[in-house]
Amino acid sequence: MKTISSLLDKEWYERYKSISKLNIRSSIYDVTNQCNLRCKGCFFFSSGENNVSEETDLAEWKRFVDKEEERGINLAILIGGEPTLCLDRVEAFYRRLPTFCATNGIIKVPRDRFPHMMVGISLWGDEADERLLRGKDTFSISRKSYEGDPHAYYLYTMTPKQIGKSQRIIRKIRDAGLKVHMQLLSNDEGVDGFSWKKAELEDIRSEMDELLDTYPDTVISSKYYHKIITSGTMGDRRFGWLQCPSVSEPLDRRDPPVRRLIGFIRWAADLKTIYRCCTSQTRDCATCKDGAAHMSWVMVNKRAHMDSPEHLKEWIEVYEMFAKLYQFIPW
Ligand code: SF4
Repeated sequence: MKTISSLLDKEWYERYKSISKLNIRSSIYDVTNQCNLRCKGCFFFSSGENNVSEETDLAEWKRFVDKEEERGINLAILIGGEPTLCLDRVEAFYRRLPTFCATNGIIKVPRDRFPHMMVGISLWGDEADERLLRGKDTFSISRKSYEGDPHAYYLYTMTPKQIGKSQRIIRKIRDAGLKVHMQLLSNDEGVDGFSWKKAELEDIRSEMDELLDTYPDTVISSKYYHKIITSGTMGDRRFGWLQCPSVSEPLDRRDPPVRRLIGFIRWAADLKTIYRCCTSQTRDCATCKDGAAHMSWVMVNKRAHMDSPEHLKEWIEVYEMFAKLYQFIPW
């Protein structure tokens, strides 16, 4: 059996050591069922995840977060609904745990109250895509609000319509002094023209590679991640339910057990309901293009990458990318 140290030179071994001590234990929380947008293809609404009651007592949220900390969680990923509609609940997390807040960017997170909270601003395609899918060009609003913010980045959901058009968006993000990470739209609501064809996935992969080469200080990504997310394969494995690591632990009855995120739970806003996974209740796993689920898939499968130095370095790069996106290591 090859060992990590025999596969890596000194520099890469040091990089490996800095991520291997992180021991990231994440979980995902719906902060609210409300949203100030209603995007076509938002899995939260399309799979009815908003149909639970919502805990409104702030003291309950604080008690809940304390229990999550006791459970060993060291990364709270806040989604929803739109978390910025309930900043007191966001603060209940932020004061207790390393916290990441996903937002559509319409309401600015006040930095006097949340000075170091990492904020991931969703961006769906370009201004035209956003008007079509989200009813509003949120990019123009969020860019002004977060300009130069060292703890914010864009989560750019690529759509088939972005092929050949993404350079302009990345330049705008760079010019605003922000970072960007890319993932692919899963098109859960079957909006016309937004489902991926094989050739389009190949094209967007080359485009993402080119963006990373051209804007290495702006784009937080890795070519191996591009390959995995566009092909849905890792070696001879195909991504889907039987491989997915981001399934809520208490609901995971897969047999034989799958390599998975330890202790991971996706909680609903009633603080009682547990959803199946980090994304939709109803999504067909074979069509799931979720970026974090694919990244986690790579991360939990270190051994599968120990067949060569190149492969192990690709694994390290994906791990580092994840750690940067959640502020465990600097950009
Ligand atoms: S929908 Fe995606 S994230 Fe959810 S279990 Fe299926 S593959 Fe995993």
